[in-house]
Amino acid sequence: MSIEKIKQAVRDIPDFPKLGIVFKDITPVLHDPELFAQTIKIFAEKYRGTPITRIAGIDARGFIFGAALAYELGLGFIPIRKKGKLPHDAYEVSYDLEYGTSTIEMHTDAVEEGDRVLIVDDLLATGGTARAAADLIEKSGGEVEALAFLVELGFLKGRAQLGGYHIFVPITY
Ligand code: AMP
Repeated sequence: MSIEKIKQAVRDIPDFPKLGIVFKDITPVLHDPELFAQTIKIFAEKYRGTPITRIAGIDARGFIFGAALAYELGLGFIPIRKKGKLPHDAYEVSYDLEYGTSTIEMHTDAVEEGDRVLIVDDLLATGGTARAAADLIEKSGGEVEALAFLVELGFLKGRAQLGGYHIFVPITY
């Protein structure tokens, strides 16, 4: 199965969550067991055998791909959550979104000294969220080994926010 089939399954939802935003909906990829499995396989092949010690997924669709990938690679998973959801002591970082602003948090004990973390999310847009996630990992003494997304909106130039990090994205618009 090719990446093209996964790309075809990602659907455009115009004017969601705001007028003028074309939302890339990845739920059809999750709905189809072959497409979902193939997506995780693509990430697993990229990162199996690399020095990654833990995977951090970004709230909420990053949890789906990140947790499945962590399970596949036999690694632990760290949830990076929107503010106010984590029960224990947490670091926080605020950032600008393609639509609005937001704050994300991570437990202060989620990353251990020497951890080499792969950050996973469904989509790279302006890069603000991923940048904030990388800041959280580094704030806790971890190293950002790489960032992986299923989809990139290249015209938003999110990579500019992530200069210096390894980035892997199989689907670009
Ligand atoms: P950004 O910080 O601008 O890179 O936004 C990335 C985060 O917002 C990811 O968690 C995406 O799931 C979500 N997001 C932003 N823009 C879109 C979009 N056009 N379609 C789908 N998800 C988006």
